Amino acid sequence: MKAGWKEILDCLPFVQRPSLVVYLAAGNLGSHRAKPSIPTRGCVDWLVYSDPQMIRTFGTLFAGLIGFAFGSFLNVCLTRWPAGESIVKPRSHCRGCGRTLAWWENVPLISWLALRGRCRTCGTWIGWRYPLVELAVGIAWGTIAWQFASDGAIPLSFSPRGFVEHIASVSGKLVLTWILIGLGALDAEHLWLPDAVTLPGIVLGMVVTLICEGPLVWKGPFQSLLAAALNLAFAILIGAGLVLVIRWAYWLLRRREGIGLGDAKLMAMLAAWLGLPGALLSFAIGVIVGAIVGGVVLMSPKRPDAEPPGLTKLPLGTFLCIGGILSTLWGQPILAAYLRWAGFN
Ligand SMILES: [Zn+2]
Repeated sequence: MKAGWKEILDCLPFVQRPSLVVYLAAGNLGSHRAKPSIPTRGCVDWLVYSDPQMIRTFGTLFAGLIGFAFGSFLNVCLTRWPAGESIVKPRSHCRGCGRTLAWWENVPLISWLALRGRCRTCGTWIGWRYPLVELAVGIAWGTIAWQFASDGAIPLSFSPRGFVEHIASVSGKLVLTWILIGLGALDAEHLWLPDAVTLPGIVLGMVVTLICEGPLVWKGPFQSLLAAALNLAFAILIGAGLVLVIRWAYWLLRRREGIGLGDAKLMAMLAAWLGLPGALLSFAIGVIVGAIVGGVVLMSPKRPDAEPPGLTKLPLGTFLCIGGILSTLWGQPILAAYLRWAGFN
């Protein structure tokens, strides 16, 4: 049975439509027919069953490679911004001897591995942060692409609204993980969560969430936009409030500042992007990771110049960022598993 062009196009997932066009074009180039032949059912089956895997594999690899490049750029920012240097000029150079790097010394991950983490001429240690940040962005972006191209994530029929919401959701995840990896590295190295990132991050997160949830772009009663915005504002207040209460309790107990205000702004940002459940999940994961790291720090042998135990400053922001990245990538399955385990479902 032969179906019409339109019907077949309509029954294909949106991202597979270009491949149908390519298939038809390739099939018809050889036969010199003016009118393209209409594919039979078998061809559609082939497209439906074999293409998604291919698209997913190549999409994941591509996104991972782009992620390595963006991680490399993030490293430049993370080195130069705290030092007050320009991010664009001069070209990449060794922090030890100042030599401008050759192109092949700038390839993400590979150069670091090939040089074993040291400058080729002066032997200055480049640091673990470079490969770790590149790897983190690459893996996060590859995972986002994999999830997007997986079954169920692709809309079965095209609608402008679904398209905009999907694009906003995916690009939002890419931006959020990139920001969180940067903030996590900054807090780990400098105990610094700059307002210049977290405060605009809160606004951007609200915009993306409202687009993904619909009411910002798609017409509807003004009340629905208002309700969604109020919901989000509530989540942001709870997120920041949680950290502020702990900060206050710590101060009452110890009369010392234990948690920075930057952590409260980071929690507000996570709530703006992930909603209240996602922000609380990030916090829970962050506290668990922090407790593990804190335990290891307390048990490891002390250096003579180290601060007394219990006073070593741990970057809570880094742990919150780790929680935020895991919530962005796997928040829904983790929460669903937790609810099942707790007997809610
Ligand atoms: Zn050098």
